Amino acid sequence: EEAEVCGDLGSRIMVFVRLRPMGKKEEEAGARSCVRIVNKRDIYLTEFASEMDYLRLKRVRGRHFCFDASFPESTTQQVVYSTTTAELVEGVLQGRNGSVFCYGATGAGKTYTMLGTLENPGVMVLAIKDLFAKIRQRSFEGKHSVLLSYLEVYNETVVDLLSPGRPLVLREDKQGITAAGLTQYRAYSTNEVMQLLQQGNQNRTTEPTRVNETSSRSHAILQVIAEYQVKDSNMTATRVGKLSLIDLAGSERALATDQRSQRSIEGANINRSLLALSSCINALVEGKKHIPYRNSKLTQLLKDSLGGPCHTVMIANISPSNLSFNETQNTLHWADRAK
Ligand code: ADP
Ligand code: MG
Repeated sequence: EEAEVCGDLGSRIMVFVRLRPMGKKEEEAGARSCVRIVNKRDIYLTEFASEMDYLRLKRVRGRHFCFDASFPESTTQQVVYSTTTAELVEGVLQGRNGSVFCYGATGAGKTYTMLGTLENPGVMVLAIKDLFAKIRQRSFEGKHSVLLSYLEVYNETVVDLLSPGRPLVLREDKQGITAAGLTQYRAYSTNEVMQLLQQGNQNRTTEPTRVNETSSRSHAILQVIAEYQVKDSNMTATRVGKLSLIDLAGSERALATDQRSQRSIEGANINRSLLALSSCINALVEGKKHIPYRNSKLTQLLKDSLGGPCHTVMIANISPSNLSFNETQNTLHWADRAK
């Protein structure tokens, strides 16, 4: 019998919100901002408000949310990384597992936050860079390795993004649940990593939809495993820590009009994965004993990185545009329940 008893009072989830800048297309469409961040924590969301209303926040009718931190439009990738993920990288070097998720609607800034661009690398690249820097600072008897795996869950199918091909089968052994045959890329420096991840991202499954040309319906998971030797008094011991960085599929619902097409089946599966993740997170937050990891591929893969002594971080990405009001509201409600 599986020991699904990771949930305890120590598994609080850190929840952050990142507001992206208004896009050119949104500006051209006459979009107004419907989100204000105050004191780096409080978020005010309101559908109908003028600049004056915002200036006197009292008059704004709408929802108010508060998170561990809320990042306004101008926040740099480095600040997002150091506030949300740096501590988890430190944890990996103490032999702990952790996970960071980006959640939000398509176009809200998940991939920008996780992967970023060559000029502005995101959390995935900055975490690996920091990991190498921290390893260099310590003396691990020279013996250490950093292994990267990059995979996708699409339609409840697991695919290797570093070596695409046939779907991978999940296996459970003493090590936990692993994808059989998954590439483990041994990384030696940060420089090669960005290109590797960009390439991997090109292999992600994207489908054209009516609203967005490249609405991503896949979950991308980067797993960074650090193995190193430490000297404990006279003994040398091998320690392993794993960090999972997840660019989740768009959280928007499948359109009702797409009900009979392929897309709605995909939508249902995405909901299933996101629903399973939500259930696990809610169970962890409520301190439940039974965490329902088995309900989706995503949660099976992340079983050893969620809850218990693991650190879990959620970054909810939102657009400032009033044209995305409903999606933003749904995202903030979802993030609020994860606290
Ligand atoms: P998602 O992955 O959630 O669908 P993207 O990360 O692709 O969304 O972001 C949508 C667009 O907005 C992209 O063109 C991206 O470069 C831009 N963008 C997102 N977040 C930011 C940000 N913080 N700063 C500047 N541009 C951003
Ligand atoms: Mg994306």
